[in-house]
Amino acid sequence: MSSSNDRLLRFLSRSPTPFHAVANIRSRLETAGFTELLESQSWASSRLNSGKYYVTRNDSSLIAFKISTPPEETGFRLVGAHTDSPCLKVKPNAITVNNGYAKLALEVYGGALLGPWFDRDLGLAGRITVRTQSGNIENYLVNFDHPIAFIPNLAIHLDRKANEEKSINKQKHLPAVLCRCDGDNPSFDGLLRAQLLKEQPGLDVDEILSFEMSLYDCQAAALVGLHEEFIASARLDNLLSCHGGVEAIINSSDNTNQILVLNDHEEVGSSSTSGAEGPFLLSIIHRLCAGEENTQRAISHSMMISADNAHGVHPNYADLHEPEHQPLINNGPVIKLNSNQRYATNSETEAMFKHICQTHNLPYQVVVVRSDMGCGSTIGPITATRLGVRTIDIGVPQLGMHSIRELAGAEDQQILVRALTGFYSVEKWPF
Ligand SMILES: [Zn+2]
Repeated sequence: MSSSNDRLLRFLSRSPTPFHAVANIRSRLETAGFTELLESQSWASSRLNSGKYYVTRNDSSLIAFKISTPPEETGFRLVGAHTDSPCLKVKPNAITVNNGYAKLALEVYGGALLGPWFDRDLGLAGRITVRTQSGNIENYLVNFDHPIAFIPNLAIHLDRKANEEKSINKQKHLPAVLCRCDGDNPSFDGLLRAQLLKEQPGLDVDEILSFEMSLYDCQAAALVGLHEEFIASARLDNLLSCHGGVEAIINSSDNTNQILVLNDHEEVGSSSTSGAEGPFLLSIIHRLCAGEENTQRAISHSMMISADNAHGVHPNYADLHEPEHQPLINNGPVIKLNSNQRYATNSETEAMFKHICQTHNLPYQVVVVRSDMGCGSTIGPITATRLGVRTIDIGVPQLGMHSIRELAGAEDQQILVRALTGFYSVEKWPF
Protein backbone atom coordinates (compact mmCIF):
# COMPACT_ATOMS: atom_id res chain seq x y z
CA MET A 1 0.00 0.00 0.00
CA SER A 2 1.28 3.48 -0.79
CA SER A 3 2.14 5.56 2.24
CA SER A 4 -0.36 8.18 1.05
CA ASN A 5 -3.19 5.61 1.15
CA ASP A 6 -1.89 4.37 4.48
CA ARG A 7 -2.05 7.89 5.91
CA LEU A 8 -5.55 8.41 4.49
CA LEU A 9 -6.88 5.18 6.07
CA ARG A 10 -5.44 6.14 9.44
CA PHE A 11 -6.82 9.67 9.18
CA LEU A 12 -10.30 8.37 8.30
CA SER A 13 -10.35 5.88 11.16
CA ARG A 14 -9.09 8.41 13.71
CA SER A 15 -11.41 11.23 12.65
CA PRO A 16 -14.94 10.20 13.67
CA THR A 17 -16.08 13.86 13.96
CA PRO A 18 -15.05 17.22 12.40
CA PHE A 19 -13.46 18.07 15.77
CA HIS A 20 -11.22 15.03 15.60
CA ALA A 21 -10.45 15.64 11.92
CA VAL A 22 -9.28 19.18 12.70
CA ALA A 23 -7.23 17.97 15.69
CA ASN A 24 -5.49 15.39 13.49
CA ILE A 25 -4.87 17.89 10.66
CA ARG A 26 -3.55 20.37 13.18
CA SER A 27 -0.91 17.95 14.46
CA ARG A 28 0.01 16.95 10.89
CA LEU A 29 0.55 20.63 9.98
CA GLU A 30 2.56 21.27 13.15
CA THR A 31 4.87 18.39 12.25
CA ALA A 32 5.27 19.90 8.77
CA GLY A 33 6.38 23.23 10.24
CA PHE A 34 3.13 25.24 10.16
CA THR A 35 2.66 27.68 13.05
CA GLU A 36 -0.71 28.25 14.71
CA LEU A 37 -2.15 31.76 14.73
CA LEU A 38 -5.06 32.76 16.94
CA GLU A 39 -7.79 34.97 15.49
CA SER A 40 -7.95 36.83 18.81
CA GLN A 41 -4.32 38.01 18.66
CA SER A 42 -2.62 40.68 16.61
CA TRP A 43 -0.82 39.13 13.66
CA ALA A 44 1.33 42.20 13.09
CA SER A 45 4.31 40.58 14.80
CA SER A 46 3.98 37.32 12.86
CA ARG A 47 5.75 38.61 9.73
CA LEU A 48 3.08 37.29 7.44
CA ASN A 49 4.97 38.25 4.30
CA SER A 50 6.37 34.72 4.36
CA GLY A 51 5.90 31.44 6.19
CA LYS A 52 3.44 28.63 6.89
CA TYR A 53 0.54 29.13 9.27
CA TYR A 54 -2.85 27.76 10.26
CA VAL A 55 -5.92 29.00 12.12
CA THR A 56 -8.86 27.04 13.53
CA ARG A 57 -12.39 28.14 14.32
CA ASN A 58 -14.87 26.29 16.55
CA ASP A 59 -12.34 23.39 16.70
CA SER A 60 -14.14 22.12 13.56
CA SER A 61 -12.91 24.35 10.71
CA LEU A 62 -9.34 25.09 9.72
CA ILE A 63 -7.53 27.39 7.32
CA ALA A 64 -3.86 26.74 6.54
CA PHE A 65 -1.77 29.05 4.40
CA LYS A 66 1.67 29.57 2.95
CA ILE A 67 2.77 33.08 2.03
CA SER A 68 5.82 33.88 -0.08
CA THR A 69 5.00 36.85 -2.33
CA PRO A 70 2.75 39.95 -2.07
CA PRO A 71 -0.80 38.55 -2.54
CA GLU A 72 -1.98 41.68 -4.37
CA GLU A 73 0.57 40.94 -7.11
CA THR A 74 0.25 37.15 -7.44
CA GLY A 75 -2.99 36.13 -5.70
CA PHE A 76 -3.71 32.90 -3.83
CA ARG A 77 -4.05 29.29 -4.93
CA LEU A 78 -6.99 28.09 -2.84
CA VAL A 79 -8.22 24.56 -2.16
CA GLY A 80 -11.44 24.03 -0.21
CA ALA A 81 -13.18 20.99 1.27
CA HIS A 82 -15.53 20.23 4.17
CA THR A 83 -14.85 18.46 7.45
CA ASP A 84 -18.40 17.31 8.27
CA SER A 85 -20.35 14.26 7.13
CA PRO A 86 -23.96 13.19 7.69
CA CYS A 87 -24.34 11.34 10.99
CA LEU A 88 -26.52 10.75 14.05
CA LYS A 89 -26.07 13.27 16.86
CA VAL A 90 -27.06 12.69 20.48
CA LYS A 91 -29.97 14.80 21.76
CA PRO A 92 -29.45 16.94 24.91
CA ASN A 93 -31.55 14.71 27.17
CA ALA A 94 -29.69 11.74 25.84
CA ILE A 95 -31.06 8.64 27.50
CA THR A 96 -34.53 7.18 27.20
CA VAL A 97 -35.65 3.93 28.80
CA ASN A 98 -38.39 1.56 27.73
CA ASN A 99 -39.07 -2.18 27.83
CA GLY A 100 -35.91 -2.83 29.82
CA TYR A 101 -33.50 -1.04 27.48
CA ALA A 102 -31.64 2.26 27.85
CA LYS A 103 -31.36 4.00 24.48
CA LEU A 104 -29.61 7.04 23.07
CA ALA A 105 -31.97 9.66 21.59
CA LEU A 106 -30.61 10.79 18.22
CA GLU A 107 -31.05 13.63 15.76
CA VAL A 108 -30.11 13.19 12.10
CA TYR A 109 -27.35 15.57 10.96
CA GLY A 110 -27.43 16.31 7.22
CA GLY A 111 -28.72 14.06 4.46
CA ALA A 112 -27.72 10.72 5.96
CA LEU A 113 -28.58 7.47 4.18
CA LEU A 114 -30.15 5.87 7.25
CA GLY A 115 -30.53 2.20 6.28
CA PRO A 116 -26.82 1.37 6.65
CA TRP A 117 -26.76 2.66 10.26
CA PHE A 118 -28.72 -0.40 11.39
CA ASP A 119 -26.85 -3.47 12.65
CA ARG A 120 -23.50 -1.69 13.01
CA ASP A 121 -21.07 -1.62 15.92
CA LEU A 122 -21.31 2.04 16.89
CA GLY A 123 -18.78 4.16 18.76
CA LEU A 124 -19.44 7.63 20.17
CA ALA A 125 -17.28 10.73 19.83
CA GLY A 126 -17.39 14.51 19.89
CA ARG A 127 -16.70 17.63 21.92
CA ILE A 128 -17.84 18.29 25.46
CA THR A 129 -17.75 21.63 27.24
CA VAL A 130 -17.08 21.58 30.97
CA ARG A 131 -16.69 23.98 33.86
CA THR A 132 -13.56 23.18 35.82
CA GLN A 133 -13.24 23.47 39.61
CA SER A 134 -11.47 26.79 39.08
CA GLY A 135 -14.47 28.18 37.19
CA ASN A 136 -13.10 28.04 33.64
CA ILE A 137 -15.25 26.81 30.77
CA GLU A 138 -13.18 24.52 28.56
CA ASN A 139 -13.69 22.27 25.52
CA TYR A 140 -12.41 18.70 25.31
CA LEU A 141 -12.64 16.01 22.68
CA VAL A 142 -13.68 12.52 23.71
CA ASN A 143 -13.89 9.29 21.78
CA PHE A 144 -15.41 6.05 23.04
CA ASP A 145 -13.49 4.16 20.35
CA HIS A 146 -15.24 0.85 20.92
CA PRO A 147 -18.79 -0.26 20.13
CA ILE A 148 -21.06 1.03 22.87
CA ALA A 149 -24.30 1.29 20.90
CA PHE A 150 -26.29 -0.60 18.28
CA ILE A 151 -29.43 0.12 16.23
CA PRO A 152 -30.96 -3.33 15.68
CA ASN A 153 -32.99 -3.96 12.55
CA LEU A 154 -36.48 -5.37 12.86
CA ALA A 155 -36.57 -9.09 12.00
CA ILE A 156 -38.01 -9.90 8.57
CA HIS A 157 -40.61 -12.10 10.33
CA LEU A 158 -42.09 -8.96 11.90
CA ASP A 159 -41.98 -6.93 8.69
CA ARG A 160 -42.55 -9.22 5.71
CA LYS A 161 -42.44 -6.32 3.24
CA ALA A 162 -39.09 -5.00 4.50
CA ASN A 163 -37.25 -5.86 1.25
CA GLU A 164 -39.85 -4.12 -0.90
CA GLU A 165 -40.95 -1.08 1.06
CA LYS A 166 -38.92 -0.45 4.20
CA SER A 167 -39.34 3.06 5.58
CA ILE A 168 -37.50 4.54 8.54
CA ASN A 169 -39.18 6.89 11.03
CA LYS A 170 -36.35 9.08 12.36
CA GLN A 171 -38.02 9.64 15.73
CA LYS A 172 -39.21 6.10 16.42
CA HIS A 173 -36.72 3.78 14.77
CA LEU A 174 -33.30 5.36 15.29
CA PRO A 175 -32.74 5.47 19.07
CA ALA A 176 -29.69 3.28 19.63
CA VAL A 177 -29.62 0.54 22.24
CA LEU A 178 -27.00 1.30 24.87
CA CYS A 179 -27.62 -1.37 27.50
CA ARG A 180 -30.21 -3.47 29.33
CA CYS A 181 -31.70 -1.43 32.12
CA ASP A 182 -33.76 -2.91 34.93
CA GLY A 183 -33.10 -0.37 37.65
CA ASP A 184 -31.58 3.11 37.61
CA ASN A 185 -31.16 4.81 34.24
CA PRO A 186 -27.53 5.24 33.29
CA SER A 187 -26.48 8.90 33.41
CA PHE A 188 -25.15 10.23 30.11
CA ASP A 189 -23.20 12.96 31.90
CA GLY A 190 -21.71 10.23 34.10
CA LEU A 191 -20.61 8.30 31.00
CA LEU A 192 -19.04 11.42 29.48
CA ARG A 193 -17.30 12.33 32.72
CA ALA A 194 -15.80 8.84 33.08
CA GLN A 195 -14.57 8.85 29.47
CA LEU A 196 -13.16 12.38 29.78
CA LEU A 197 -11.19 11.46 32.90
CA LYS A 198 -9.92 8.34 31.15
CA GLU A 199 -8.59 10.50 28.30
CA GLN A 200 -7.53 13.48 30.48
CA PRO A 201 -6.49 11.98 33.83
CA GLY A 202 -6.47 14.46 36.69
CA LEU A 203 -8.77 17.01 35.02
CA ASP A 204 -10.72 18.89 37.71
CA VAL A 205 -14.22 18.72 36.19
CA ASP A 206 -16.88 20.54 38.18
CA GLU A 207 -19.78 20.07 35.75
CA ILE A 208 -20.38 18.94 32.19
CA LEU A 209 -22.37 21.83 30.78
CA SER A 210 -22.86 20.78 27.17
CA PHE A 211 -21.82 18.36 24.44
CA GLU A 212 -21.86 17.72 20.69
CA MET A 213 -21.59 13.94 20.42
CA SER A 214 -22.30 11.70 17.47
CA LEU A 215 -22.32 8.00 16.75
CA TYR A 216 -19.94 6.47 14.21
CA ASP A 217 -19.13 3.08 12.73
CA CYS A 218 -16.26 1.40 14.60
CA GLN A 219 -15.20 -0.57 11.52
CA ALA A 220 -11.87 0.88 10.41
CA ALA A 221 -11.26 2.24 6.91
CA ALA A 222 -9.84 -0.46 4.64
CA LEU A 223 -8.66 -1.29 1.15
CA VAL A 224 -11.17 -3.67 -0.44
CA GLY A 225 -11.77 -5.34 -3.79
CA LEU A 226 -10.02 -8.19 -5.57
CA HIS A 227 -6.95 -6.03 -6.19
CA GLU A 228 -7.48 -3.76 -3.19
CA GLU A 229 -8.28 -0.97 -5.63
CA PHE A 230 -11.09 0.53 -3.50
CA ILE A 231 -11.13 2.40 -0.21
CA ALA A 232 -14.12 1.55 2.00
CA SER A 233 -14.79 3.90 4.89
CA ALA A 234 -17.18 6.25 6.60
CA ARG A 235 -16.80 9.99 5.84
CA LEU A 236 -14.95 9.64 2.51
CA ASP A 237 -17.23 12.58 1.62
CA ASN A 238 -15.37 14.68 2.41
CA LEU A 239 -12.41 13.74 4.58
CA LEU A 240 -10.75 12.22 1.51
CA SER A 241 -10.60 15.71 -0.04
CA CYS A 242 -9.49 17.28 3.28
CA HIS A 243 -6.64 14.78 3.38
CA GLY A 244 -5.76 15.49 -0.27
CA GLY A 245 -5.60 19.23 0.46
CA VAL A 246 -3.41 18.71 3.53
CA GLU A 247 -0.96 16.45 1.66
CA ALA A 248 -0.85 18.93 -1.23
CA ILE A 249 -0.13 22.04 0.84
CA ILE A 250 2.60 20.14 2.69
CA ASN A 251 4.14 18.73 -0.54
CA SER A 252 3.87 21.80 -2.77
CA SER A 253 6.61 24.30 -3.55
CA ASP A 254 7.02 27.26 -1.20
CA ASN A 255 7.12 29.80 -4.04
CA THR A 256 3.41 30.69 -4.22
CA ASN A 257 0.68 31.92 -1.87
CA GLN A 258 -1.50 28.96 -0.92
CA ILE A 259 -4.63 28.62 1.18
CA LEU A 260 -6.35 25.44 2.32
CA VAL A 261 -9.84 26.07 3.73
CA LEU A 262 -11.66 23.22 5.48
CA ASN A 263 -15.16 24.20 6.55
CA ASP A 264 -17.63 22.54 8.87
CA HIS A 265 -21.42 22.50 8.29
CA GLU A 266 -21.42 21.94 4.51
CA GLU A 267 -23.90 19.10 4.91
CA VAL A 268 -26.44 21.43 6.54
CA GLY A 269 -26.11 24.42 4.22
CA SER A 270 -22.81 26.08 5.33
CA SER A 271 -24.48 28.92 7.27
CA SER A 272 -22.50 29.17 10.51
CA THR A 273 -19.51 30.96 11.98
CA SER A 274 -17.27 28.17 10.73
CA GLY A 275 -19.18 27.27 7.54
CA ALA A 276 -18.36 28.42 4.00
CA GLU A 277 -21.26 30.90 4.08
CA GLY A 278 -19.70 32.57 7.14
CA PRO A 279 -16.89 35.13 7.30
CA PHE A 280 -13.95 32.85 8.22
CA LEU A 281 -12.09 32.73 4.88
CA LEU A 282 -12.66 36.34 3.90
CA SER A 283 -11.49 37.54 7.32
CA ILE A 284 -8.22 35.63 6.91
CA ILE A 285 -7.69 37.03 3.39
CA HIS A 286 -8.35 40.54 4.71
CA ARG A 287 -5.66 40.05 7.33
CA LEU A 288 -3.16 38.82 4.75
CA CYS A 289 -3.77 41.78 2.44
CA ALA A 290 -3.35 45.32 3.68
CA GLY A 291 -6.52 47.21 2.81
CA GLU A 292 -9.60 46.70 0.67
CA GLU A 293 -7.98 47.46 -2.67
CA ASN A 294 -5.17 44.97 -2.06
CA THR A 295 -7.74 42.35 -1.02
CA GLN A 296 -9.65 42.82 -4.27
CA ARG A 297 -6.45 42.78 -6.31
CA ALA A 298 -5.36 39.55 -4.57
CA ILE A 299 -8.74 37.90 -5.21
CA SER A 300 -8.66 38.91 -8.88
CA HIS A 301 -5.30 37.11 -9.20
CA SER A 302 -6.59 33.99 -7.39
CA MET A 303 -8.28 30.70 -8.21
CA MET A 304 -9.99 28.16 -5.99
CA ILE A 305 -10.43 24.41 -6.36
CA SER A 306 -13.44 23.20 -4.38
CA ALA A 307 -12.74 19.50 -3.81
CA ASP A 308 -15.73 17.37 -2.87
CA ASN A 309 -16.45 13.82 -3.93
CA ALA A 310 -18.55 13.14 -7.03
CA HIS A 311 -20.98 10.33 -7.86
CA GLY A 312 -19.20 7.64 -9.85
CA VAL A 313 -21.42 5.59 -12.14
CA HIS A 314 -23.02 2.77 -10.10
CA PRO A 315 -22.94 -0.42 -12.22
CA ASN A 316 -26.30 -1.58 -10.82
CA TYR A 317 -28.02 1.76 -11.39
CA ALA A 318 -26.25 3.10 -14.47
CA ASP A 319 -29.50 4.49 -15.93
CA LEU A 320 -29.60 7.08 -13.13
CA HIS A 321 -26.46 8.70 -14.54
CA GLU A 322 -26.16 10.88 -17.66
CA PRO A 323 -25.36 8.35 -20.42
CA GLU A 324 -22.43 10.30 -21.91
CA HIS A 325 -20.97 11.41 -18.56
CA GLN A 326 -20.33 8.37 -16.38
CA PRO A 327 -17.26 8.83 -14.15
CA LEU A 328 -15.41 5.64 -13.22
CA ILE A 329 -13.58 4.99 -9.98
CA ASN A 330 -9.79 5.14 -10.40
CA ASN A 331 -10.02 7.11 -13.66
CA GLY A 332 -9.07 10.38 -11.97
CA PRO A 333 -10.83 13.34 -10.40
CA VAL A 334 -14.11 14.54 -11.88
CA ILE A 335 -14.73 18.10 -13.06
CA LYS A 336 -18.31 18.96 -12.06
CA LEU A 337 -20.36 21.14 -14.38
CA ASN A 338 -23.83 22.60 -13.97
CA SER A 339 -25.04 25.50 -16.07
CA ASN A 340 -27.44 26.52 -13.29
CA GLN A 341 -24.41 27.25 -11.06
CA ARG A 342 -24.96 24.44 -8.58
CA TYR A 343 -21.26 23.97 -9.31
CA ALA A 344 -18.95 26.97 -9.73
CA THR A 345 -16.95 25.58 -12.68
CA ASN A 346 -16.75 27.74 -15.80
CA SER A 347 -14.90 27.12 -19.05
CA GLU A 348 -11.87 29.09 -17.86
CA THR A 349 -11.42 27.24 -14.55
CA GLU A 350 -12.20 23.92 -16.26
CA ALA A 351 -9.49 24.63 -18.83
CA MET A 352 -7.04 25.56 -16.07
CA PHE A 353 -7.62 22.30 -14.21
CA LYS A 354 -7.30 20.23 -17.40
CA HIS A 355 -4.08 22.10 -18.18
CA ILE A 356 -2.64 21.22 -14.74
CA CYS A 357 -3.64 17.56 -15.08
CA GLN A 358 -2.13 17.33 -18.58
CA THR A 359 1.07 19.02 -17.40
CA HIS A 360 1.47 16.31 -14.74
CA ASN A 361 0.17 13.41 -16.88
CA LEU A 362 -2.88 12.89 -14.68
CA PRO A 363 -6.23 11.57 -15.89
CA TYR A 364 -9.45 13.51 -15.30
CA GLN A 365 -13.15 13.10 -16.07
CA VAL A 366 -16.10 15.42 -16.59
CA VAL A 367 -19.64 15.04 -15.25
CA VAL A 368 -23.06 16.62 -15.56
CA VAL A 369 -26.19 15.08 -14.04
CA ARG A 370 -29.12 13.82 -16.12
CA SER A 371 -31.32 16.71 -17.28
CA ASP A 372 -34.32 15.14 -15.53
CA MET A 373 -32.60 14.80 -12.15
CA GLY A 374 -31.57 17.21 -9.40
CA CYS A 375 -27.99 18.19 -8.75
CA GLY A 376 -26.08 18.45 -5.46
CA SER A 377 -23.89 21.37 -4.54
CA THR A 378 -20.69 22.14 -2.62
CA ILE A 379 -18.83 24.94 -0.87
CA GLY A 380 -17.62 25.96 -4.38
CA PRO A 381 -20.52 28.22 -5.46
CA ILE A 382 -20.88 29.57 -1.90
CA THR A 383 -17.22 30.60 -1.67
CA ALA A 384 -17.25 31.96 -5.22
CA THR A 385 -20.25 34.09 -4.28
CA ARG A 386 -18.77 35.28 -0.98
CA LEU A 387 -15.34 36.18 -2.39
CA GLY A 388 -15.80 36.69 -6.11
CA VAL A 389 -12.93 34.27 -6.69
CA ARG A 390 -12.85 32.19 -9.88
CA THR A 391 -13.59 28.62 -8.83
CA ILE A 392 -13.80 25.07 -10.11
CA ASP A 393 -15.70 22.17 -8.51
CA ILE A 394 -13.96 18.82 -8.72
CA GLY A 395 -13.89 15.62 -6.68
CA VAL A 396 -12.93 11.97 -6.84
CA PRO A 397 -15.75 9.64 -7.90
CA GLN A 398 -17.28 7.48 -5.20
CA LEU A 399 -20.23 5.13 -4.64
CA GLY A 400 -22.74 5.11 -1.79
CA MET A 401 -22.40 8.80 -0.91
CA HIS A 402 -23.73 9.61 2.58
CA SER A 403 -23.84 5.93 3.58
CA ILE A 404 -22.14 4.95 6.83
CA ARG A 405 -19.62 3.12 4.62
CA GLU A 406 -18.74 4.62 1.25
CA LEU A 407 -16.52 3.39 -1.57
CA ALA A 408 -13.85 5.37 -3.45
CA GLY A 409 -10.71 4.56 -5.44
CA ALA A 410 -7.23 4.05 -3.98
CA GLU A 411 -5.65 5.42 -7.18
CA ASP A 412 -7.94 8.44 -7.31
CA GLN A 413 -6.94 9.85 -3.97
CA GLN A 414 -3.27 9.77 -5.00
CA ILE A 415 -4.11 11.44 -8.33
CA LEU A 416 -6.06 14.09 -6.41
CA VAL A 417 -3.05 14.80 -4.18
CA ARG A 418 -0.81 15.18 -7.25
CA ALA A 419 -3.29 17.46 -9.04
CA LEU A 420 -3.75 19.71 -6.00
CA THR A 421 0.01 19.81 -5.41
CA GLY A 422 0.50 20.83 -9.04
CA PHE A 423 -2.16 23.53 -8.69
CA TYR A 424 -0.61 24.96 -5.50
CA SER A 425 2.78 25.10 -7.23
CA VAL A 426 1.64 27.11 -10.32
CA GLU A 427 3.81 30.22 -10.15
CA LYS A 428 2.33 32.16 -13.05
CA TRP A 429 -1.25 31.74 -14.23
CA PRO A 430 -1.49 31.04 -17.94
CA PHE A 431 -4.49 33.42 -18.12
ZN1 LIG B 1 -19.46 16.53 0.30
